[in-house]
Amino acid sequence: MIFEHLDKYGHEQIVFCHNKDAGLKAIIAIHNTVLGPALGGTRMWPYKSEQEALNDVLRLSRGMTYKNAVAGLNIGGGKAVIIGDPASDKSEALFRAFGQFVESLGGRYITAEDVGIDVNDMEFVYRETEYVTGVHQVHGGSGDPSPFTAYGTLQGLTATLNRKFGDEEVGKYSYAVQGLGHVGIEFVKLLKERGAKIFVTDINKERIDRAVSEYGAEAVGLDDIYDVDADVYSPCALGGTVNEDTLPRLKAKIICGAANNQLATNEVGDEVEKRGILYAPDYAVNAGGVMNVSLEIDGYNRERAMRMMRTIYHNLARIYEISERDGIPTYKAADRLAEERIEIIGKLKLPL
Ligand code: NAD
Repeated sequence: MIFEHLDKYGHEQIVFCHNKDAGLKAIIAIHNTVLGPALGGTRMWPYKSEQEALNDVLRLSRGMTYKNAVAGLNIGGGKAVIIGDPASDKSEALFRAFGQFVESLGGRYITAEDVGIDVNDMEFVYRETEYVTGVHQVHGGSGDPSPFTAYGTLQGLTATLNRKFGDEEVGKYSYAVQGLGHVGIEFVKLLKERGAKIFVTDINKERIDRAVSEYGAEAVGLDDIYDVDADVYSPCALGGTVNEDTLPRLKAKIICGAANNQLATNEVGDEVEKRGILYAPDYAVNAGGVMNVSLEIDGYNRERAMRMMRTIYHNLARIYEISERDGIPTYKAADRLAEERIEIIGKLKLPL
């Protein structure tokens, strides 16, 4: 049954990690290493079943292959999940035992933080293996990736404005930003610096107050964000917010934000295209975080990271070209760009 799954998604290797004394049950999924070692975070979650954990790690690791490939990184895709409740099941032993499994793969998989894991947990993993990114800055880590993700999102936005409206004047347009967390508030700041009109919403009132007082944004209700008269809808909170219910309400001509998995289904993605809305594929737009963290592998350099963010502009432009070339929606064009790059680079034989 497991090999059927691996066949379906094209995975190379799945590692089931167990240490009874440490209470560790984890799965590491290496999806594809054609471009380089598999990089992707570790998620800790109280999965209801092993099957649920396996499905999640297979889906997420495959997603990392596409994200890293489109980002132009020499890095493959992988991901890990630890089955457990982050609120009650964390311990030094658990993370060190996990680190030993990562080490045993000899660099084929490089881990990082994901949902349920923080920099302190990574410190324990780091004691057992060097194949970790996102460790504390004192160990040469790159720190919080969110400002980079926000800046990368801005690069993706300018490419998308250019494609849709033929100019890149961010400040000329209006924005509906959903979610003012680590990335959202930074993105609002960048929009404000360029003189844009911004509508915002969040479940957290303090964050809304900050966006209003510091960046002159206009607050709207949680559900009203889909109805505002804005040129760009920018999801920066949850996934699945572009769906059958919300799409008919959107007045925006562009969807461009940092949230993962914005389209509820592929059918919704097709409908977005039919409605003449330009969708900036989420994993291409929000790659700033992974780009930043990837630089830790060769020794982190902030200037290089900022330069790298600008490549997101070109990646988006390329996706729009492929969309036009092949007559496919942009979400499919992003996948095609990833697949083409893996195929071409995979065939590359360097002269001796
Ligand atoms: P975060 O948890 O700091 O912020 C999320 C914000 O969304 C919070 O302020 C929360 O209150 C708000 N929110 C939650 N539910 C909401 C709702 N229904 N309506 C409006 N607001 C709601 O997370 P983040 O790090 O800013 O990431 C935001 C999104 O971007 C996530 O989807 C994340 O996966 C994605 N992303 C983040 C990074 C990064 O570098 N942090 C990188 C790539 C992708």
